Amino acid sequence: MKKILTLMLSLLVLLLPALALSETVTASFFPIYLFASNLLEGTEGIELHSLAQPQTGCLHDYQLSSGDLKALSNSDVFLINGAGMEGFMSFVFEAFPDLPLIDASTGIDLLPSESGETEYNAHIWLTPANASRMVQNLSDGLCASFPKAADTISANCSAYIQRLDALDKELRDGLSSLSRRDLLTFHEAFPYFARAYDLEIVAVIALEPEDPLSPAQLGHLVTLIRDHDLPPLFTEPQYPSLAADTLSRETGAPVYELNPCVTAPDGTVPLDWYEQIMRGNLAVLREALGAQ
Ligand SMILES: [Zn+2]
Repeated sequence: MKKILTLMLSLLVLLLPALALSETVTASFFPIYLFASNLLEGTEGIELHSLAQPQTGCLHDYQLSSGDLKALSNSDVFLINGAGMEGFMSFVFEAFPDLPLIDASTGIDLLPSESGETEYNAHIWLTPANASRMVQNLSDGLCASFPKAADTISANCSAYIQRLDALDKELRDGLSSLSRRDLLTFHEAFPYFARAYDLEIVAVIALEPEDPLSPAQLGHLVTLIRDHDLPPLFTEPQYPSLAADTLSRETGAPVYELNPCVTAPDGTVPLDWYEQIMRGNLAVLREALGAQ
């Protein structure tokens, strides 16, 4: 018995430093979680969690749950998208004034929001150039917070940015020669992408993605689509396609799907998930806009 007790005690002594060394990083939602997963690959003693469930999507109207508050109180660092995506931040500042924060949007040239809910359009991650900047910002913050892991994080950051640069080139080449460049998207997720690749978003089908369209809004969009000679309409896998389907029936404009990369696939998230989604979007855009 005494032997077992000694063994247990020595095990505990061995385990304690490991427990104390384990750090918890919380990312606000899926895109930030995905970027941070790439940065923290191969590091030890750092646990990464996503605050919002991986199927939540954008944080429009997101309310913090009691579970979220508990998660934040157990976090060593909180990673956010910034640019207004986390509408609950004033509450976080008040409840956790000492929680270190890393804002991925620092230095990004922000576009105004059209929905009026926030000052800026927060969907900044949807160009590889912005994603690179975000990854660099997150890397800088994580290296400062976890100096022992800084070499690994920096190396991961450089490798990821190289992949994102290659993706940017692929998108630029793939979208350079199209028979038309105008489209309607489902919600206000793609203005950064359109600016980067010289596309024109004629209108957004649902400025408030959770609300159904009124007959007046539908009528306005039908006129707009006819005036623009039936540009393609894009739904998003995270939202019902009813409005786009109705518009398509009324006008004959074709419907396709663009993915804003805000939700995780089932099972393990591949580290190149962002690239996979953006390559999928590229193929769909080339088909919808008539690549030449
Ligand atoms: Zn959104």
